[in-house]
Amino acid sequence: MSDLGATLVSLHVPDRDGEDSDVVLGFDTAAEYLGDENQYFGCTVGRVANRIAEGAFELDGETYELAINNAPNHLHGGDRGFGARVWEALPDDAPGTVTYRLVSEDGDEGYPGRVEAEVTYELTEDDVLVIRMSATTDAATPISMTNHAYWNLAGHGAATVLDHELEIRANEFTPADDTLIPTGEIATVRGALDFQEAKPIGRDIAALVDTAAMGYDHNYVLHTGDTEPVAEKFAAGRFDARLHHPGSGRTMELYTDQPGLQFYSGNFLFGQAGKGGETYALRSACCLEPQGIPNAINEPVFPSVVLRPGETYEHTTVLKFFAE
Ligand code: BGC
Repeated sequence: MSDLGATLVSLHVPDRDGEDSDVVLGFDTAAEYLGDENQYFGCTVGRVANRIAEGAFELDGETYELAINNAPNHLHGGDRGFGARVWEALPDDAPGTVTYRLVSEDGDEGYPGRVEAEVTYELTEDDVLVIRMSATTDAATPISMTNHAYWNLAGHGAATVLDHELEIRANEFTPADDTLIPTGEIATVRGALDFQEAKPIGRDIAALVDTAAMGYDHNYVLHTGDTEPVAEKFAAGRFDARLHHPGSGRTMELYTDQPGLQFYSGNFLFGQAGKGGETYALRSACCLEPQGIPNAINEPVFPSVVLRPGETYEHTTVLKFFAE
């Protein structure tokens, strides 16, 4: 873990023979995490994950302008979002647990309100990683945080993630325009986008490589209303997504209370040098990012991401690792 971006730096998972590999992409130095080659590796994204159209939104009659750091849009909290900030590590007596706290001042990256955010990572004895996020504010503001880990269950630096099998328990997604902003429509998954039955990520990806997303970079709609508490889903094995690497047997189940799940197949990885001299080639990792639906602040039909004074934003995502 690192307090820079409240980042998940490495995670070692045994394969079916007990052989351990680090399954997340990352860097060896803080300088690299702050450099151009870092594409949000493992960090906590905020205030708002994914894109806000043209970096603008209206809230309670006021218009707010944010940084355009992914032209023509605002991406992952702006020029210096939560993932590029040094968080305060809070003392925690619970074994395997670390909590980070960040104050985002009123006007930070153009957002209104002073926000206090926290992220707790808890790694249990049974190889379960629980990520809990929370935030409060003193003025209405959008909040939709996520963890941006890049997974390769063969081990970071392995050439591709196209051989991983993925299941996503969502029959709907939010189609997006050429700048990857959702159109506002909620559509049924079909063909390449349908992961309701597990399939290799590479099986149908050819249908998407010539699109603006250059592969998978889609938001799946897990629910738009109330959801079952994560603890209940977890106890019943009702995961939202499951990633499996047949070669090693390593498997990750994801359980979340968030309405959206961004599946990104590492289409903008470009061969940067990562931890231990490994190279991160195009599509050598994927992200599964639970969050509010992208651009929800501009789309009243999507579940609201507005946090108001007196309310607490809460997000729990549970990742369970095993080999089969
Ligand atoms: C987004 C991609 C973006 C990437 C940045 C993902 O969460 O969906 O569109 O390029 O983050 O590394």
